[in-house]
Formats: sequence, structure tokens, C-alpha cells
Amino acid sequence: MKEFEPEITARIAGIVDESVSDGPGVRIVVFFQGCRHHCPGCHNPHTWDFDHGSIYRIPELLTRFEISPLIQGVTLSGGDPFYQPQAAARIAEEFHKLNKDVWIYTGFTWEALMNAEDRAVSALLSWCDVLVDGPFLQEQRSPELPFRGSRNQRLIDVRQSLRNHALTEW
Ligand code: SF4
Repeated sequence: MKEFEPEITARIAGIVDESVSDGPGVRIVVFFQGCRHHCPGCHNPHTWDFDHGSIYRIPELLTRFEISPLIQGVTLSGGDPFYQPQAAARIAEEFHKLNKDVWIYTGFTWEALMNAEDRAVSALLSWCDVLVDGPFLQEQRSPELPFRGSRNQRLIDVRQSLRNHALTEW
């Protein structure tokens, strides 16, 4: 008998079809709805509320993307995609299969994610190429840094880090 699989949905704040500021190259950016980090100075406070945004079934959402050869990859941002790890992992997996790279922005630190006892979190990390980790800290704000807002945030090469069992910066 086929095992019952609950339908996975994603609560999404918005999608940008072509961005050049959320990672290298031209990227699709998916903003997840919902974030409990509540960093003072956050640029996207409208993405905090878990009751807002639009709900998509994953297959429906995947058909929404226009993945042309121009697109280098996808960036999962928010909000925080790690509050919806199952849905985010499905999206990341799909882009990975198309040889597109996957960047993820999260307010959790790498260390916190490594200690999370949630298989969906591990699955999401397994489809991620670069993780930009940690909360935005106003006192460490640094607009000149590429692809991040404050100095505490790190660009982590996830594949190398998982292989080496040690954090490796991108
Ligand atoms: S983690 Fe990101 S979205 Fe969440 S409050 Fe901090 S800066 Fe805003």
C-alpha cells in the first residue's frame, strides 16, 4: 500500500523573478513568510507574521518559476525559510536538479542548525550551496559587505562544511 504523504504547502511573502543583489548572477528570490527572530532594523518586517502571505501547494509553486538559462540559481530568503524547512527543501531540491545553485538566508546560526534535531532542517541544508547565517545586528551593520547586512553574518560553503565537518566560509 502506498504510504500517505501529507501535502506540503509553503507560505510565501513574495517572489522576485530576476534579482542581482541576493547572491551571484541573476537569481529567482523566494521570500518565505514568517520569522520569529525580530531583528531590530530588519528590512522586511512585513514578513514576520506567520498568518500573512499566500499559501501555495509545492507543485503549483514550482510551475510559477520561469527558470531560463539566464538564471544562475535561487535564493530562499524571508522571513526565514528554516521555519518551513520541508517546503523550502522541496524547492531547493528542484532547482538543484536543474543545476541551479541554491543560496539561503537565515536568522539562525550555522551552529544552531547543526544542533537542530529536525530531519527537514538537515534535508534543506543538503540541497543548499551557500548559507548566509545569523540575525541582522544593527550595531554590526556594514553596507559595503557583499550579500549580507551585518558583520556577524557569514557566507558559508555548505557542501564543504558538511564534508569537512567544520564551518568553511565561501
Ligand atoms: S532573520 Fe531576517 S527577516 Fe527575520 S527579523 Fe532578522 S533580518 Fe528580518
